[in-house]
Amino acid sequence: MDNLLNSADSNSPFKDGYARVMGKFTLYYKPYSLELKHVFTVASNSRSTTPVVLVALAFDGYIGFGEASMPPYLGESHASVLNFLEQVDLSSFGSPFLTEDILSYVDRIKVGNTAAKASLDIALHDLLGQIMVQPWHKIWGYNPENTSHTSFTIGIDKPEIVKKKVAEAEPYKLLKVKLGLDSDKMMINTIRELSDTPICVDVNQGWKNKEQALEMTHWLAEHGVVFIEQPMPKEQIDDNAWLTERSPIPTIADEAIQRLGDVHLAKGVYSGINIKLMKCTGMREAKRMVELARELDLKVMLGCMTETSCAISAAAQLAPVVDWADLDGHLLISNDLFKGMWIEDGKIMLPERPGIGIRLM
Ligand code: MG
Repeated sequence: MDNLLNSADSNSPFKDGYARVMGKFTLYYKPYSLELKHVFTVASNSRSTTPVVLVALAFDGYIGFGEASMPPYLGESHASVLNFLEQVDLSSFGSPFLTEDILSYVDRIKVGNTAAKASLDIALHDLLGQIMVQPWHKIWGYNPENTSHTSFTIGIDKPEIVKKKVAEAEPYKLLKVKLGLDSDKMMINTIRELSDTPICVDVNQGWKNKEQALEMTHWLAEHGVVFIEQPMPKEQIDDNAWLTERSPIPTIADEAIQRLGDVHLAKGVYSGINIKLMKCTGMREAKRMVELARELDLKVMLGCMTETSCAISAAAQLAPVVDWADLDGHLLISNDLFKGMWIEDGKIMLPERPGIGIRLM
């Protein structure tokens, strides 16, 4: 394993990366670029690569892996994550079991930088799982048989490409469709020509008018759509609340809800929230968000960015306790580095392996 972290070893994903010794911990990190299988279009932009930073945290012969994923529209980048990681100094912590202290310290280094923080949170959880020789879903007491199905995302595209993607999505029990442009009904109609699989839609704040949005929710419900993510801009709080009250299907907040402190803001405005490790600084806070959302009687969806199987498998540890999961980020890329959670007939399967359950490919 040591070789895999050797920055001079040509087989190591951390080759030519950074390694910093800080007391009993050593932190390794390396910028990496995910190649998307298809150009991916959402209401706000298109892209074919996603920058990520791979992280490994070593302690006493044990190693945990983590990852930060930075879709450009969220404001973090290779440079900002490297800059953040350079400021981290764990030398005052004698044990990785001081999780609360360590992650509170990391959170206080700087505001924002949630993906950079998540990379450390994931690596620390993976490390602890290796030491305890248990996977996190087990440590948390979750039944791995209760994992939900994952949706498979289809970006906005020309009908011929959409048809190709629908064929690729054949094993999945829920299709996630990106809406928010003039082509919305065309997208749904194209899919319905080929498949009657339930659909969930993500509008990414693309609808501006509440009456038109309500009309669309009824049309979508008639076409087998089961919920709508972020229908209108997050700033239009009253309009989103108005829509949720009248919509025949649940509305889910994504852009509107980032961290634990935001969860209560969803109450009365949306039917539920979409939790992503890269928004909320990682596994520790994500679990707290699930618990608070349940107390507030909100639906919970688990989402992701384009990520390797590392961050996806970390998020998947929470899959037994959510209503819907959208953990397909690793399926949309052609250069994954890890093997971890897998999908069988659309259902999320959790490996028995310790920590976040991954190994390098
Ligand atoms: Mg979304």
